[in-house]
Amino acid sequence: MKKIGLFGGTFDPIHNGHLIIAEYLRDDLGLEEIWFVPAKIHPLKNNFEITSPEHRLKMLLLAIQDNPNFKVTDVELQREGVSFTIDTIDELYRRNAALEPRFFFFIGMDNVNELYKWKDPRQILRKAQVVAFGRPGFKADKKAKEFIPLIKFVHVPLLEISSTYIRQRIQKKRSVRYLIPAAVEQYIREKHLYM
Ligand code: ATP
Repeated sequence: MKKIGLFGGTFDPIHNGHLIIAEYLRDDLGLEEIWFVPAKIHPLKNNFEITSPEHRLKMLLLAIQDNPNFKVTDVELQREGVSFTIDTIDELYRRNAALEPRFFFFIGMDNVNELYKWKDPRQILRKAQVVAFGRPGFKADKKAKEFIPLIKFVHVPLLEISSTYIRQRIQKKRSVRYLIPAAVEQYIREKHLYM
């Protein structure tokens, strides 16, 4: 059995906050690999102009190139329409049956109170170990109460970095050095992204 962490996001662009979370969850939960799952369209996200899947995928590949425990799967990018977590988990079990995977699905702690709005949350919790990461002090809403015992809460060091902040800095021609991997920054400059 292979323990694999799934880290979904828009990754527009991937930044060091994402990489830190992935690395610490991998180590603290004893996982063999982390698979980044870039989303085509985030079902609940306000639609600012999202960078093309090809660019986001390439930036992810550049960001993880020196870490043998990190992989990227384009399962959601290949699928038509919006991607729901339960469909992604089902498809990843199907595609990777030979690995006998046990999936751990990462969500930000803020998402715990949103889980009831997702498609088939009980199935998600049955098929994968949901891992909520963030700072201590989280308060569950009434609607999230039934899910809490099934979720694993993990503390990871968080940085106040977001992709939004990176995009804004690039647009204002400010430095993003040390906020994103150098290879990702080089790619952004070459392709004139977020300008
Ligand atoms: P945006 O600013 O475009 O909303 P983001 O930085 O939140 O992007 P996503 O690709 O949406 O990036 O991130 C995937 C997941 O990682 C989300 O659950 C998000 O909350 C979480 N996340 C991203 N950056 C951090 C951070 N610095 N600390 C904690 N969680 C983070």
